[in-house]
Amino acid sequence: MDLAQLFIHDTTLAFVFEIMVRCVLMYILIILFLRLTGKRGVRQLSIFEVAILLALGSIAGDPMFDEELPILQAVLVMSVVIIMYRLTTWLMMKYQPFEDLIEGKSLYVVEDGMLVLDKIQRGKMSHDEFFAEMRQQGVEHLGQVRVGLLETDGKFSILFYPDEQVRHGLPLFPKAAQIVYQVQPEVQYACTYCGFITTLSSAQTPCVRCGCHKWTEAMNTLRIT
Ligand SMILES: [Zn+2]
Repeated sequence: MDLAQLFIHDTTLAFVFEIMVRCVLMYILIILFLRLTGKRGVRQLSIFEVAILLALGSIAGDPMFDEELPILQAVLVMSVVIIMYRLTTWLMMKYQPFEDLIEGKSLYVVEDGMLVLDKIQRGKMSHDEFFAEMRQQGVEHLGQVRVGLLETDGKFSILFYPDEQVRHGLPLFPKAAQIVYQVQPEVQYACTYCGFITTLSSAQTPCVRCGCHKWTEAMNTLRIT
């Protein structure tokens, strides 16, 4: 292998300086164009916004070192993408069905302290994903949650029960959610699949709500605020 070919090839000193100028110019342009998206930060992006950023990113890189690419062309491409982006967000604001199409809808994951069945059964999401979200928001078990909504940007919104309405629920922390093989009378058990709460005469009893038969002892601790 020819190392000079690998590392330098036909790079001239003049082109080294051109690359530097190109990088500075593109850097400034990228910041300007990102400001034009109107977004204040990138903490939570929807799939649609990630697509826009990917497009902008791939346009932005090449003109930094490709002498065949005039800056003007990059500016043109970025302008078109930004105009499309602003047009799309405008249409989304105007027409709800269009927004649902582009961004998806927010989904009810928890209602009345139990997981919403058709969502998990259709495999739209995995338990682990939103259990982790709820744990991070300090939820110890589902009996504390009146409503859990998965937003289109992947955030998880929770409405809690007030303390006097907290009921038994499925524990969300792994150590507390171990599957039981022996049951005791008078104890509330939680279906590990759907969060249904019941007393059991046998650990093999199927859940009347989802048909699953993996049970764990339910909790009814209050939230610590
Ligand atoms: Zn169940």
